[in-house]
This record gives sequence, C-alpha cells and structure tokens, in this order.
Amino acid sequence: MSDHTFQASPIAIASPLPRKSRQARVVWRNNIVTVGGDAPVRVQSMTNTDTVDAVETAIQVRQLAQAGSEMVRITVNTPEAAAAVPYIREQLDRMGEYVPLVGDFHYNGHRLLTDYPACAEALSKYRINPGNVGKGDKKDKQFGQMIEIAAKYDKAVRIGVNWGSLDQEIMAELMDANSKRAQPWETRQVMYEALITSAISSAELAKNIGLNPDNIILSCKVSGVQDLISVYRELARRCDYALHLGLTEAGMGTKGTVASTAALSVLLQEGIGDTIRVSLTPQPGEARTQEVVVASEILQSLGLRVFVPSVTACPGCGRTTSTTFQELAKQIDDYLRGQMPVWRMKYPGVEAMKVAVMGCIVNGPGESKHADIGISLPGNGEAPAAPVFIDGEKAMTLRGEGIATEFQQIVESYVQRRWGGAQA
Ligand code: SF4
Repeated sequence: MSDHTFQASPIAIASPLPRKSRQARVVWRNNIVTVGGDAPVRVQSMTNTDTVDAVETAIQVRQLAQAGSEMVRITVNTPEAAAAVPYIREQLDRMGEYVPLVGDFHYNGHRLLTDYPACAEALSKYRINPGNVGKGDKKDKQFGQMIEIAAKYDKAVRIGVNWGSLDQEIMAELMDANSKRAQPWETRQVMYEALITSAISSAELAKNIGLNPDNIILSCKVSGVQDLISVYRELARRCDYALHLGLTEAGMGTKGTVASTAALSVLLQEGIGDTIRVSLTPQPGEARTQEVVVASEILQSLGLRVFVPSVTACPGCGRTTSTTFQELAKQIDDYLRGQMPVWRMKYPGVEAMKVAVMGCIVNGPGESKHADIGISLPGNGEAPAAPVFIDGEKAMTLRGEGIATEFQQIVESYVQRRWGGAQA
C-alpha cells in the first residue's frame, strides 16, 4: 500500500490578482485600445527616431506595432515635430496601420497643441509630465491648457511623473514638512510621497478642468526595482485610475531586461498595472522592437496574455555538445515570430501553440508530448534520429542534414491544418 496521501486541501494555483481600475479608451479609427478595467494588460513602446522625419518615424512605428506594440509613443518636442505628426499618421493610415499614436510633451506642449491642432487631432493620447510643464503660476495654467485640448478632442492623457523630473515645488514642500516631524522619514520615502502627490493632484486638476476621469492614466516612474514596487503599491491603493507601469532608464541588454522583468512581474502579479513599457536602451545593432518582445514575454510568462507561440527548449548539457539543437530552437523561435504578423490575421488562435525543441532522450520525448508539436534531437551517443511528436503522439522520425527545414515544414502544415479553418 502506498504511503503517499493528499493534504487536506489542494495546493493553490498561483495567478495574478484581478485589476481594479477605470477604463481609458485610446482610439484611432476603428482601432479602440482599452486600458484598464477588464482590458488585457497592454503593451506599448516608444520610437527613437527624429519625429521630424515623418517617413522614418512611420516605418519604426509600424515595426513596433507589428512586433506587438498596441500603442506607440513619439516625441513631440518642437514646432517641426508637431507639424510632422499628421503626416506620420497619414503614412500609417495609408499602410493600414491603425495603431494609436501617443504624443510625448514637455515644457512647450501647451503651445504645440494649441498652435498645431492637426497634431492634437492626429494623436490618440497625450503624455504630460507635470514636473515639466512650467514653474510657479505658469504650471497649472499650461497644464490646464493641454488638458482643455485633450477634453475638447476626447483624448486619453497619461499624467506621467518621473523621479528624474519630479515637481521640485512639491518635493521642497514635503521635505520642509518632513524636517519638522519628530521622526523624519527617509528622503526616498519623501520622494515616493512627492511622486504620488504630483500624479494624483494633477489628475484631480485635470478632472476638475473637464477631462473624463476614465481617460486619465497615471504613471510614477523610478529606476530602482524596490522603489517602483513601493510607489506603485501605494499609488494603486490611493486611486482607481488606470496605471501605466514601467521601470524608467532600465538600462541595456540583460541588466535592463532582468530589472524590468523583476519589477513588473511583482506588481502585475498583485493586479497592479494596466499597460506596460519596457524602457530598454538598445545595444548597438539591436532592433528597437526588442523592448516590445521583452514586454510581451513578461505578460505571456505570467499567463496574462498570449502573443506568440511559445518554444520550450532545454538548456542543453553535457549530453548535447553540438549546437544543433540550440540553432534549431533559435531558428524555430525566429520563424514563429516572423510569421506572426500574417498568422495573427490568417490563423486566429495560433498564438497559443506550444512547440518543444529538446536536446536528448532524457526529457525530450516527455516534454515534446506536452507540447502541441515537439522534436527531440539526438544527444551524444544516441542514434542519429529525431522523433517528432504531434498532439502528444509520436508522428514521425527525422534523420539527416535537413531536420531543421523539415521540422519547420511540419510546423507550417500543422498550423494550417489546426488553425486554417476553410483555408486548410
Ligand atoms: S533534455 Fe537532455 S540535453 Fe536537454 S538538458 Fe536535459 S539531459 Fe541535457
């Protein structure tokens, strides 16, 4: 008789907590991107082209959108950039790319939105940093001017506070009050308070001016993982606006990817964050779309969204001294991502496909059986044959030099058969 018994209750299945926020609508033509409420967590990104170059900017916006970015932000920093915005929109519309454009404004946004009404109309959302709208009396006036325009055109607004450009008047006021406490807070705790105060008081002002509160999205970006977690937990507790989540100046490569993933995952698991951006500094030669790939992977790994078929690959070990299986895993991953702009339209549901590429017989067949389609390559000393499993059953064995190409063809026909409907 077995000694193995169950505990009194089953082990809880982990899943992100539900989000509880208002819902903003970021609209361009028939493309309505809802943010917050019951909408899926949205991926967004930002161009790094000169906005004045409308063609180059439109091309990069399209690349980001095709990689999965559901909104794309562009810098609107000069009269020339503001004048270029309607042309960028026009180029995208001509290409059939209705991804909403977000305008990033600092210092002169009130003037640009007033002087270039076509720019104000072509954008679907404005990002306003209350720390960069002016000082003293001008601050509320210039902020108000932008909000009035947003209300007039029924645009969503992100009130985006950043610790690098925090409203110094609020910070000074809070530091002063803190110095009078019997037990003063740490400076960074005062900074948390200043970030949140700046965001929420600006949102209240926008609401009083007449902006639909559902169309207000807040962010309080900092560059430290623990700081971001502290600030957003409190921000989510104090308001019900949709929240834009991101670690600012995350950095390059592995550091930026890991720091963003660590910070965003903790908060998303707690139900905090309605749209995310991963602010990666591209490495020389790296595509701007990498930030979209990372953001999508964070959401897909947490089970919040499904964007692309997933490739499960083993890490390899002493049993696989050749790089064949690494190359195959990369080739299949690149192939699946490359197909998605077309497959998304042609084969609805294909993004949920699971592909396994395993290096030997130890876990290969088992893992491959759990995938929709999997291949187990031969490890050292194993017969030079690669069994392929489809829907859990061994379907065939591949041999020889052309394994990669043949496997790709098998995946392609599987996709056509399973998700092609009438086209199969
Ligand atoms: S599946 Fe095989 S090759 Fe891959 S890590 Fe496990 S033992 Fe190593």
